[in-house]
Amino acid sequence: TPVAPPALDVRDVTVRFAGLTALDGVSFTAAPGSLHALIGPNGAGKSTCFNVLSGLCRPDAGTVTLGDTELTRLAPHRIAALGVARTFQNIVTTQGTVADNLMLGRHAKSRAGYAASALRLPSAVREQRAHLARAREIAELTGLGHHFDSPVGLLSYGDRKRVELARALCLEPRVLLLDEPVAGMNAAERARTADVVRELRAELGLTIVLVEHDMGLVMRLADDVTVLDFGRTIAHGTPDEVRQDPEVLRAYLGT
Ligand code: ADP
Ligand code: MG
Repeated sequence: TPVAPPALDVRDVTVRFAGLTALDGVSFTAAPGSLHALIGPNGAGKSTCFNVLSGLCRPDAGTVTLGDTELTRLAPHRIAALGVARTFQNIVTTQGTVADNLMLGRHAKSRAGYAASALRLPSAVREQRAHLARAREIAELTGLGHHFDSPVGLLSYGDRKRVELARALCLEPRVLLLDEPVAGMNAAERARTADVVRELRAELGLTIVLVEHDMGLVMRLADDVTVLDFGRTIAHGTPDEVRQDPEVLRAYLGT
């Protein structure tokens, strides 16, 4: 069994862009090993929150803590090295094979230097082989095993979008940030991806923060839900609790 992953704590985070408060004192905690969903209408601040969590955006106030480590002012590569990996909402890979893309993801973990790799030193060759074996396991785990050597451009949209998820997993994260992982997928692809997320949770024991528009998916996968609207937290609770919250219904239905 994997070591328990850390909690991810977001405390009073505020982000201002010129003339606009994208996040206004947002707080939530993703408990160790849980799946915490972050939902809300377009423009609510969900992606901005992920940018703060992954170090791409410095908050004007507030803190982000991973276990006992404060992440708030760290550079993106430091945060990734501490075990926080993310997917991007609108990125779908089109170049290379699935294996190529996953090996790119493994590269960030590689210990052998460029020189050792270029000279094909035995240690570097061994490490490369181990990375390839692990990349193949991750492809299996994300439902891409039978496409491992296929050019990404030939895959279905759903499979291509899952390459982005698999690439993030190649960092061996302890915390995974998923930004709309099923956006644009058809019903079958969504169901498949939900199964994959469930399986990798069981297999890898990750703490996951999920941003997703598909409420059905959120309701099926999440342990806890935080609802944002115009950068503010308007509700927090279990999927059943937030589903019945009048503020949430108003934000979603605009009534
Ligand atoms: P969501 O992911 O919930 O749809 P975003 O976090 O992308 O929302 O955006 C929240 C708000 O912040 C939106 O009004 C958006 O236009 C604005 N915003 C996001 N990024 C920037 C930026 N880099 N500069 C200015 N405004 C931004
Ligand atoms: Mg977004």
